[in-house]
Amino acid sequence: MTSIPLEVPTVRAERHPTREGRRYLVRTFGCQMNEHDSERISGMLESDGMVRADGVDDADVVVINTCCVRENADNRLYGNLGQLKPVKDARPGMRIMVGGCLAQKDRDLVQQKAPWVDVVFGTHNLSRALALLDYAEEWGPITEIHDETASIDSIPSTLPVRREVDHSAWVTIMIGCDNACTFCIVPQVRGREISRRPGDVIREVTRLAGDGVSEVTLLGQNVNSYGRDLGIDGRRRPVFAELLRRVGEIEGIRRIRYTSPHPKDIKEDVALAMAETEAVCEHLHFPLQSGSARILRAMQRGYTPERFLEKLRMVEGIVPGLATSTDIIVGFPGETEADFQGTLKVVEAARFDGAFMFVYSPRPGTRAADMDDRVDPEVIKERFGRLAGLQQQITLDKNRALIGSTVEVLVEGPSRKDPAVVTTRTRTNKVLHLSGPHPPGEYLMAVVEAAAPSHLMGRLA
Ligand code: SF4
Repeated sequence: MTSIPLEVPTVRAERHPTREGRRYLVRTFGCQMNEHDSERISGMLESDGMVRADGVDDADVVVINTCCVRENADNRLYGNLGQLKPVKDARPGMRIMVGGCLAQKDRDLVQQKAPWVDVVFGTHNLSRALALLDYAEEWGPITEIHDETASIDSIPSTLPVRREVDHSAWVTIMIGCDNACTFCIVPQVRGREISRRPGDVIREVTRLAGDGVSEVTLLGQNVNSYGRDLGIDGRRRPVFAELLRRVGEIEGIRRIRYTSPHPKDIKEDVALAMAETEAVCEHLHFPLQSGSARILRAMQRGYTPERFLEKLRMVEGIVPGLATSTDIIVGFPGETEADFQGTLKVVEAARFDGAFMFVYSPRPGTRAADMDDRVDPEVIKERFGRLAGLQQQITLDKNRALIGSTVEVLVEGPSRKDPAVVTTRTRTNKVLHLSGPHPPGEYLMAVVEAAAPSHLMGRLA
């Protein structure tokens, strides 16, 4: 009798004998990091001979890549799993896999609540998804969660990938976060910061450029500390500015974006690299979170509103034509009207081109979730409305100021609403619609003719 293996082997040399031509579906919740992880999961499944399914009904493997940063992640996951149960009952051969942050955090709970799930894997076990699927096919359900990334080699960018678009790609430069923002679950689920070696990043981007990619987005939770853990030249110093310059030298790369920088850590060297490297786009995502010194302290963000604005002015002063966006949380525990007024003041002063605004919701496992003085939801709603109104007006004013100017745009694809129109993006990360058709990946010059808060409209220059 064969016994159940104690350990799941990591790699196998050949494709799985029965997986060729079977169909998979990956559902993604969450941020760009998760979207990118999903591309890796798809890439791994396709490297095993599988093809993409049209929907759940023809899928042999369904992967749910979860996120626990945003609200309702649990409801969404268990709602999805509930819908999959009758499908699995009807087709017991279908495999269900759950990965990502919520899997990392909830661990055994996923299979307790939804025993029809075959594989639960954590954020540090992504590279083992295929091996775990093999195990589940043979031996039954398995949960595998590691708490720390085993090594730099387990950073997902080293895995096969199935990119959603041909001309644009995400490139993970680091994972994890050494900060301790009290509202954020990322440090617990993604672990400490680990940077990829610059040479590995350069090789990956060079390979992407060879495949026809002209735009890359460098991903990390706190890119300004990129490289600190590598001890390059025997010193624990960040080398993100150098990385930007080196990626900018790669032939074929016309646009470089990155997310996210941390306002407390960004320095002149990064702004100078942005200004002096032609390919780096004039766009900075600069997460404010709150404009109140008291709330920023409670959030453990490491800056004051004044310092935030100083840093913003520093980058704006160095990078001509810079557009900015931000993240703001409304209703953090203890937020008073005076604190909220502080946020409005910073928003007015900063004049961001756009903002992602969130109603605070406690994430179990974070320090803020244990804070008592919750803000009344009705008060939060009213504040959110005021903030959204202010930001919308600023965005519209800034977009209107572009009317008549000529900008370079990159074609993303046909507009969802009108196939005769193509959706493009400016270097400053604004959506611009113009008459098509034009193939995705083409660079055009466009004259801005009209502006709305969410987009620009234009014509070919
Ligand atoms: S910097 Fe703060 S908000 Fe960003 S990932 Fe780290 S802990 Fe979370």
